[in-house]
Amino acid sequence: MTKYIFVTGGVTSSLGKGIIAASLAKLLQSRGLKVTIQKFDPYINVDPGTLNPYEHGECYVTEDGAETDLDLGHYERFLNIHTSQANNVTTGRIYQTVINKEREGAYLGKTVQVVPHITDEIKRRMLLLGQSGEYDIVITEIGGTIGDIESLPFVEAVRQLQWEMEEEDCLVVHLTLIPYLKAAKELKTKPTQHSVKLMSENGLHPDIIVCRTEHSLNMELRKKIALFCNVKTEAVIEAIDANSIYEVPLKMLQEGLDVIVLKKLHINGYSAPQLNKWKGFLDKLKNPNSKINIGLIGKYIELQDAYKSILESFVHAAAINECKVQIVNVHSEFITEDNVNEKLGHLDGLLVAPGFGLRGVEGKIIAVKFARENQLPFFGICLGMQMAAIEFARNVLGLKDAHSTEMDVTTANPVIDLMEEQKKVTAKGGTMRLGSYPCEIKPDTLAYNIYGKPIITERHRHRWEFNNKYLQQFEEAGMMASGKNPGIGLVEIIELTNHPFFLGVQFHPELKSTVENPQPIFVAFIKAAKEFADKKNLVSNPLLQSEMI
Ligand code: GLN
Repeated sequence: MTKYIFVTGGVTSSLGKGIIAASLAKLLQSRGLKVTIQKFDPYINVDPGTLNPYEHGECYVTEDGAETDLDLGHYERFLNIHTSQANNVTTGRIYQTVINKEREGAYLGKTVQVVPHITDEIKRRMLLLGQSGEYDIVITEIGGTIGDIESLPFVEAVRQLQWEMEEEDCLVVHLTLIPYLKAAKELKTKPTQHSVKLMSENGLHPDIIVCRTEHSLNMELRKKIALFCNVKTEAVIEAIDANSIYEVPLKMLQEGLDVIVLKKLHINGYSAPQLNKWKGFLDKLKNPNSKINIGLIGKYIELQDAYKSILESFVHAAAINECKVQIVNVHSEFITEDNVNEKLGHLDGLLVAPGFGLRGVEGKIIAVKFARENQLPFFGICLGMQMAAIEFARNVLGLKDAHSTEMDVTTANPVIDLMEEQKKVTAKGGTMRLGSYPCEIKPDTLAYNIYGKPIITERHRHRWEFNNKYLQQFEEAGMMASGKNPGIGLVEIIELTNHPFFLGVQFHPELKSTVENPQPIFVAFIKAAKEFADKKNLVSNPLLQSEMI
């Protein structure tokens, strides 16, 4: 029978509920249990697909094409499992379902209310994944902070579930902040007490309190939190700031979070945690033997969450290469022909990021040109790949006005054009080419070397595509389509034949990188950047040169 863990947050947002939930899940998984995580978000958007990255960070796309919260990325990266639409539910989706049912007449003349109709729909969805029989444990992260008006129906749904279930089938983990007051040189428990009190007013009581803190919690403090918040002292868990999110599972192991969860859920017969692979990864991550600088060219660089999966993919691939990857954020809006050398000249590789709309694209095109002409390793993702095609068309094929019809509908050379199936689409939400698609890779190409197989699948999120009318012209001039969709022939990967590493992909490889399975393009890109850096050092250091001879 499936057991349920609910993770709530108190005091402030951004405490890292997603990381705590994923870390707990990792520990339980490492003990041989089948675990999945889902996130319930209180906002009214049906999904985060229509949200600007500045609002809510990256939109994470699952295999089945759901546009979801970026925490699902953490779940997949930690657990090495796939999630799906069912793993992310918003208030908007709940209301949409209830309102549709009301329109169908399903409530038979009743007044439709938050309790019980909205809470019933929340509960139905909270139990859905568990009903598949696939999981021993389903962890549900409740977005937002206790006390928010919009989280109330979710808190009420958890309260009802806890009341309906046997005591050992469900528990609540509450993540709070223990702030440190510098002037008083003291950690303060009052905000935690208040947030637990707020929860209690809504009928919900935490079984475990995880305390986010900058300083270690001594026994006295733990006892105080336990007493005032009415939990056992062993159920007060310290979550001290870590250098890397990937250290958090080990910190939680030290604190015994998994053991207390297993005890409260009456789960016996589990094995000792198998975390060798995880520890091996951390070991490599902490002990690099080389260092490179990768430029991340994007327009949302002020907000690191906007490129979360890309940044994490670099962490996974850096560890396997035993290399420290320094990400240099370069705002594409401010790259010009005049400053490109100064901005990008010191880098060992360039990644041109995904994106939408006109802002910043000319800077991206200039960056691509710089990488192409200087043999600098280049990796373009989605819009980044489209910019690489436009740059090639303009500067190699001589089609000076080449563009994407996303930015210029009147261009005479639409080398990137709206996909046929997109031409009749008007609604914005959930209507892009989304989710996993196969791609056939040409032998004897960089892409084939990287993947080592002829058919791969990767996840997509776009409306525009490479315009196949121009393909022959591109290939004759040295930019080839090394990956295509086998059914409809859409170009999915482009590469330059006379460059050490120049690859553009229409899909989002960053969405499938995990700690245990780093994404192969990122791994190869870092390797190429390392070689580039080594060569650069050789040229700039004659001493090294003579040693090599
Ligand atoms: N705006 C481009 C398109 O829709 C690229 C999308 C992206 O980078 N995810 O095709």
